[in-house]
Amino acid sequence: MKVAKRIYQIPTPTPFYVGPINAYLIKDEPITLVDSGVKTDEAEEALRCGLAELGLAFGDVERIVITHAHLDHYGLAGAVAAEGTPTICAHPLEVYDIESELGYDSPDDPRNDRAEKFLLESGLPEEKLGLNLARHPVFQELRRAVKVTDQVEDGDTMPFESGDMKVIHCPGHAPGMINLYDPAEKVLLSGDNVLKHISPVPLLNFPLDPSKPRGHSLSNYLETLKKLRRLDIDLVLTGHGEIIDSLEEVIESVTLHHEVRKKKVLRFLGKAPGTAYDVCGHLFPKLDPLHTFLAMSEAIGHIDILEEEGAVEVEARDGLNFFSAKP
Ligand SMILES: [Zn+2]
Ligand SMILES: [Zn+2]
Repeated sequence: MKVAKRIYQIPTPTPFYVGPINAYLIKDEPITLVDSGVKTDEAEEALRCGLAELGLAFGDVERIVITHAHLDHYGLAGAVAAEGTPTICAHPLEVYDIESELGYDSPDDPRNDRAEKFLLESGLPEEKLGLNLARHPVFQELRRAVKVTDQVEDGDTMPFESGDMKVIHCPGHAPGMINLYDPAEKVLLSGDNVLKHISPVPLLNFPLDPSKPRGHSLSNYLETLKKLRRLDIDLVLTGHGEIIDSLEEVIESVTLHHEVRKKKVLRFLGKAPGTAYDVCGHLFPKLDPLHTFLAMSEAIGHIDILEEEGAVEVEARDGLNFFSAKP
């Protein structure tokens, strides 16, 4: 389906709660595919059909842009690349996950020990550590490691014959999330950065370099939204669900949603000191255990911001971090 000048949307199915993922084909020179889908037969078939409707095959794709290293966005990139010689572009912070043979959040991931220690100190019961759904072995099947040939950074130009696009670094949901911006058409390809009816979770993230501090994902995400606000955007081509023609409204509602939650967290921590897990239970009392990792990411995101603002303080006790609102 044509969604903007030279841009076609190709949805492909995923086994995830979020539903289909939208890949985009930019029919210009070079022929560019933005995101791809998970590596399943059904998704591959859908992508092949979508391209065929445009008179294209996998081998015709000259450039693949990966917005971020989540399976639904790059799982099929390797299959497409195997039939041609496309350049593959991603942000440096996503390269390891895209290229690693270990696979997405593999049990042998070098970041695991730090993440587990942090989650235990955050109050997560040990038996719930395994609930990071993404670690499930089935996820390994949904991707194929692929080599990134071109690392792209914020402000880089993505050249096209009929009008260049710009790379915008949008950390938050993933640390190296990139969006493509077409200034002439005022179009943004947003990956999972902004979605219409879903508020993307800024996921807990640990850098590969153990000496580097943990990124504050939610705080980064809110900065990303401010950055997008400064661009002139009429249309947002999202990675899932409907496209957005009123970005301002979406940003407004997401920002407000987080503001309300942050206040709720502060009130809770004003009554008695609590761990991030306690905060998580307060925010999501009826949580499906499978969403524990997402919910913890959100709770920790709010605590991070309150700490940055100097509104809460932390005290370590019995191997746990307790937060309380400053008087
Ligand atoms: Zn994602
Ligand atoms: Zn996604």
